[in-house]
Amino acid sequence: ERMIDIAGVHKTFVADHGTVTALEPVTITIKEGEFISIVGPSGCGKSTLLRLISGLDQATGGTITLDTAGRKRPVGFVFQEPVLLPWKTILENVRFPLDTAGVSRAEADKIALDLIKMVGLEGFEKALPRQLSGGMRQRAAIARSLSDDPPILLMDEPFSAVDLLTRDTLNDELLRIWQSTGKTILLVTHSVDEAAYLADRVMVMTARPGKLKCVHKVDLARP
Ligand code: ADP
Ligand code: ADP
Repeated sequence: ERMIDIAGVHKTFVADHGTVTALEPVTITIKEGEFISIVGPSGCGKSTLLRLISGLDQATGGTITLDTAGRKRPVGFVFQEPVLLPWKTILENVRFPLDTAGVSRAEADKIALDLIKMVGLEGFEKALPRQLSGGMRQRAAIARSLSDDPPILLMDEPFSAVDLLTRDTLNDELLRIWQSTGKTILLVTHSVDEAAYLADRVMVMTARPGKLKCVHKVDLARP
């Protein structure tokens, strides 16, 4: 039931003025179906960690093992700003990963329409992204990240660009999605409240001058 195994993973970047440590070594095992929040100050390496897990970036050292047996796209990624193709409708955006995976049009439509309903965007299938509010666009981006059914969902401050009221709604929606799909979710946030509300486990990353430290396995009872 282990889903993600991270062992001694670290990252440095080579910059003009020398090397920059983006992530000090992290070791953590994440179980299938777990919801983990990652909190920590700006610059401590939260986004870097997600990018390494997703394969968007290569670790300098250590190993990341995903137990996603043969899945073509094991990881879905939700960014801070909703990333949607502006000239495509909400339905076309949500369907897009399925289109590129060669799923039939009828099947892709069925999956996408179910997801659009799940994120509360029924009736907006034919709208273009710019016609919707920021919160609605982010819902569409979440639907898209789920459409080819990746077992792992990585979310990098997904609701920081929406107002507080919408944020609460989206958080509750995300909990419902997690409960109904059983996905393994890693969510980066700068809100300790949000982290504790959402997750099974909160991973706290701390930064000291010139040194980063990761503290794991802070177990919290679900509210
Ligand atoms: P966080 O998400 O916790 O705010 P990041 O993972 O974005 O932190 O960044 C961690 C550190 O690595 C920061 O000091 C950042 O400036 C540096 N960093 C991230 N990406 C790059 C890059 N492509 N080139 C150089 N430095 C980077
Ligand atoms: P969200 O919580 O998704 O950000 P808002 O708080 O912006 O949504 O808006 C609440 C509701 O108002 C939406 O769920 C939607 O029904 C309606 N709405 C908002 N913006 C638009 C729009 N551009 N066109 C049509 N309806 C909208």
